[in-house]
Amino acid sequence: MERTFLMVKPDGVQRGLVGRIISRFEDKGFQMIAGKLVQASEAQAKKHYAEHEGKPFFDELVGFITSGPVFAMVWEGDDIIALSRMVIGKTKVTEALPGTIRGDFAAHTPFNLIHGSDGPASAEREIANFFAPQELINYSRSVSQWI
Ligand code: ADP
Ligand code: MG
Repeated sequence: MERTFLMVKPDGVQRGLVGRIISRFEDKGFQMIAGKLVQASEAQAKKHYAEHEGKPFFDELVGFITSGPVFAMVWEGDDIIALSRMVIGKTKVTEALPGTIRGDFAAHTPFNLIHGSDGPASAEREIANFFAPQELINYSRSVSQWI
């Protein structure tokens, strides 16, 4: 079982897409173990996107992520990091295929609606940046045996 950090970005919250985005991951059979609406601080946003520091779009990205509330979540499932990035779609909207969240809903690259961790180490770091350990809820669902 793997964990990932998923976050509906401010554009998704403003456009009222939080519910539909959550549904995509529920439909796939993953399990949410934490979720909350958060106004990210500048320090938190910079930490979240630390790997992009120095890139030309970094300041714009931090400004975007702190421009309004985000919906931060932790999800669990087998191979969830790779599979959730398939559900999300490619970073560039011109490459995001229909059927993916970005392919169906996003039209401009920085405003691509959702973040998903790209590996186990970044997932752990990103989860710790937004959640205290006791906010992650362990529970079992009877449906899990069929997924
Ligand atoms: P992903 O979100 O798919 O993991 P990256 O980690 O490469 O993509 O980039 C983080 C975020 O930075 C992207 O989701 C997007 O919002 C923004 N971004 C990435 N590349 C660019 C770019 N060339 N110009 C503007 N914004 C970008
Ligand atoms: Mg990334």
